[in-house]
Amino acid sequence: MEENRWSSQSSDLLRKIREFTRSIVEDLSKGQSPFVSIQRFRNYCTNSNGECNCSYDKSNGQEILTFQKETHVHRIDVLLRVLLIVQQLLQENRHGSKRDIYYMHPLVFSEQSVVDRAINDICILMQCSRHNLNVVPVGNGLVMGWLRFLEAGKKFDCMNSPNTVHPIPVLVEDVKVPCHQSRRQICSGISFPSLFDADIVSVAQYILVVEKESVFQRLANDQFCKTNRCIVITGRGYPDVPTRRFLQLLTEKLRLPVYCLVDCDPYGFDILATYRFGSMQMAYDAKFLRVPNIHWLGTFPSDSEKYNLPQRCLLPLTAEDKRKTEAMLLRCYLHREVPSWR
Ligand SMILES: [Zn+2]
Repeated sequence: MEENRWSSQSSDLLRKIREFTRSIVEDLSKGQSPFVSIQRFRNYCTNSNGECNCSYDKSNGQEILTFQKETHVHRIDVLLRVLLIVQQLLQENRHGSKRDIYYMHPLVFSEQSVVDRAINDICILMQCSRHNLNVVPVGNGLVMGWLRFLEAGKKFDCMNSPNTVHPIPVLVEDVKVPCHQSRRQICSGISFPSLFDADIVSVAQYILVVEKESVFQRLANDQFCKTNRCIVITGRGYPDVPTRRFLQLLTEKLRLPVYCLVDCDPYGFDILATYRFGSMQMAYDAKFLRVPNIHWLGTFPSDSEKYNLPQRCLLPLTAEDKRKTEAMLLRCYLHREVPSWR
């Protein structure tokens, strides 16, 4: 059944790609410029009066690409080249990374961000998520703790050694647990309340997300998960798509509270906001990438007094830090959803 759903999704996508390309060829054969309309999405603006239209589901205006502008001619060229590569990936049921795509035409693409933008545009045009295109990023995130799952036939058994570090799976759709495993086998020797799902098994009580890999490693070295029944995740700075999708999958399936520990600086806060609200670049897909119930665990400026941190552990805010903080304070989603965070 999974297989069928996958193939109908990808044949639907292939049909949309053909229709899109045909309309461009038709325009060209009539001597007309193609007319590519791309919806624009944003997850926040700086309108603090609460009267904005930012939404996770609705677009916010559109951009029209035609041959009238030279920059648009290049963008349409890039769009069609990337689309052709995506079509081949789907037809051959293969996966490729954004980097692989870049190296197909490095002279035309000139830099990775050009490919990234084309991939985002294609997702918007085809109304799908990036993984539907068979484009996978190189995973950056790490996980450890009271969790067991299968990814593409490979078993990740963190429960037997909860302080062992595992990479976060890149193909989140393939995350499953073997159906022959019975409840009894899974929970032998564990007296804590357990939560079972068809895909993922966990006996954790909460999920802890940390910004820094160094903090994650420290927790692993300290055997944090031996005494704390939890799952620990890091996106190593700004979290990538697999980390956010995996975290969303865990929160959806396991319904555990999620706590986020970030640095007490504007970048830490921006990382927290990325987990909670999604990023601007992928705003069109935010509903699949955001974790709305993530709690801000810290650290806060008041913690330095509360825990008697020595002065040498603190750094002054730079002018750039202050500028970034002030810009973030204007984001509408903070006013709307978490005024206390401000
Ligand atoms: Zn807004």
